Amino acid sequence: AKSIGRNTFQIYTEEMDAETRKRALMAAALRRALDRGEFRLLYQPRLSLTDGKITGVEALLRWHSADIGEVPPDVFIPLAEETGLILKIGEWVLREACLTLRRWRRNGLVDVAMAVNVSVLQLLRGNLPEVLERVLIEADVPAERIELEVTESMVMANAEQTTAVLNHLRDIGVSIAIDDFGTGYSSLVYLKRLPIDTLKIDKEFVGDLTRDPDDEAITATVITMAHSLGLNVVAEGVETQAQMDYLREQGCDEIQGYWLSPPLDSHHCLAFMRTWQPSIVP
Ligand code: C2E
Ligand code: CA
Ligand code: CA
Ligand code: CA
Repeated sequence: AKSIGRNTFQIYTEEMDAETRKRALMAAALRRALDRGEFRLLYQPRLSLTDGKITGVEALLRWHSADIGEVPPDVFIPLAEETGLILKIGEWVLREACLTLRRWRRNGLVDVAMAVNVSVLQLLRGNLPEVLERVLIEADVPAERIELEVTESMVMANAEQTTAVLNHLRDIGVSIAIDDFGTGYSSLVYLKRLPIDTLKIDKEFVGDLTRDPDDEAITATVITMAHSLGLNVVAEGVETQAQMDYLREQGCDEIQGYWLSPPLDSHHCLAFMRTWQPSIVP
């Protein structure tokens, strides 16, 4: 029994070592990824349920590492945050998204908005307002067409500090969305205090609409509450017509998800938006 115990322990530590090595390798690859041009952005369109128009897109980061292949954002974003690399990467994302928006605007799409995900580390440790102002001038896009998405739990955990930065960003003219709403613990008081424009309902709730009465109740309540605070509501992860119908009945303002379109590269996204007919929406 003793030797089995020992073996188990050894296997356990070997697995730990392998895991640690893998992470160190990935961190090293991530450090070189910007210089190697391994990042690209995809864009997922967002639809208004009130007039059937495409209101904008969300920029979603992709990393194809020459060493390890395609790595999903849920894996490399947390690592980028832990290593502080997210500050540089986040700046690249912002610039790339704004440059894409400029191209689209020159192609006549002047009304679409660009939503960019921002890590709380960028809010707390970076000089995001300065970076943003620089990028806006460089790309020659109006601040009013940019929306920054910050996750609910991250903002709430640092409410005092983030509020100041969010106020600064809003003074520049961009709008602010609270991402993954419903997964954190926001009180109404905080929501009311935060300088925000939009709530994005997390896809965890949207995915169970028309199946789980609890998620329906949560979603309906969030929409009512958000509207009473004067906020715009976007549902993410909408995959079916039934989910879309439910959300529209409840007065949700916009939807995003595979039902409308998966994330697309900038050329396909431009084509999608140019050929979109508002009357397609039933
Ligand atoms: P998120 O901001 O909540 O983004 C929505 C995620 O849902 C995206 O995953 C998107 O591809 C996926 N999605 C879109 N439509 C559907 C649908 O109908 N059904 C389902 N099941 N999923 C859908 P993705 O692209 O893998 O990104 C994962 C997360 O990584 C994002 O979640 C965001 O938190 C983070 N992320 C992505 N890009 C960036 C970035 O540039 N900066 C930062 N800080 N985080 C990013
Ligand atoms: Ca987001
Ligand atoms: Ca989400
Ligand atoms: Ca559920």
